[in-house]
Amino acid sequence: FRKRQPSAQELIDGILTGNITALSRAITLVESTNPAHLEKATAVIKGSLPNANKSARIGITGVPGVGKSTFIEAFGKHLTSLGKKVAVLAVDPSSTISHGSILGDKTRMEELVKDENAFIRPSASGETLGGVARKTRETITLCEACGFDIILIETVGVGQSETAVHSMVDFFLLLKIAGAGDELQGIKRGIMEMADAVVINKADGDNIKKAQLAKVEFNRALHLFPAKKSGWTPIVATCSSLTKEGIGAVWQTISDYIELVHSNYYFAEKRKEQNLFWMIETIDEQLKTHFYTQPNTIELLESTKTAVQNNEVSPFAAAQILLDNYYKK
Ligand code: GDP
Repeated sequence: FRKRQPSAQELIDGILTGNITALSRAITLVESTNPAHLEKATAVIKGSLPNANKSARIGITGVPGVGKSTFIEAFGKHLTSLGKKVAVLAVDPSSTISHGSILGDKTRMEELVKDENAFIRPSASGETLGGVARKTRETITLCEACGFDIILIETVGVGQSETAVHSMVDFFLLLKIAGAGDELQGIKRGIMEMADAVVINKADGDNIKKAQLAKVEFNRALHLFPAKKSGWTPIVATCSSLTKEGIGAVWQTISDYIELVHSNYYFAEKRKEQNLFWMIETIDEQLKTHFYTQPNTIELLESTKTAVQNNEVSPFAAAQILLDNYYKK
């Protein structure tokens, strides 16, 4: 495996027997921007798909410093102690620019990294969120086919990446810390609304009381949102990723959720919806990229921009000129 390029079939066989080297190589193919790798990557995904789809996919978000890595380390270890196989992925489009990829520094999850039932993969680098998200979706399929039954997807609480992660997971967990009475400020409403659970981390030592107060406030805030289609009432919990207090309860909550959404068929329904969503997203994104990268579009766009800015042509007429130019080439 290490010496030569394995074939698509060899990679599929490897993945289906739980071979981590095969899994890693397949993910590298999926992440590759080399068009020559695309065909092979597609074949490996296709071969993996019948054995995928059986995991629980959990999204974890929170602002930097809230304790995502520490939480995932504690939570992941708890899951492997229950005999689960855990894959940890990340969606972090900013990593391309900053090179400071979340999960890039694996020492942040020292114990989990050494755990043979855990697999940790830093965020794919990609120009766009769409690109990173697509690669992560494909990576989920590969991990599932390789036997990972819990997929944790970490994302930083900035920008659009939460929305992308939300649309590829079954359960969305928002990690918070108790502040000085300003819990509900600065939280993007949309993110709160997406959350199936708000977990207040660092509930240890002097922080316990503050965390419990924050819990009450978050509970109140969550009740203001309309009921979820899943039939699930979002919960607020506290935990400490350092002392591990409350970590087991988080998993119990997620298990309860999964049981509920299996029994009311929402689980399968949501996954179907998500598949469609990603198909349309991909078409949208590729059409856009194709349009904007045509040499004659680029040229005409430059001159048209000035005309639009100077009110010589209306924005809509200008758009039509560019589109007509694109279609006729
Ligand atoms: P991330 O940026 O969200 O991934 O946060 P990290 O996991 O890197 O944690 C940020 C800091 O908070 C580190 O110094 C951690 O040791 C600390 N931390 C994380 N979880 C806890 C916790 O449950 N209790 C306490 N007291 N500190 C924590």
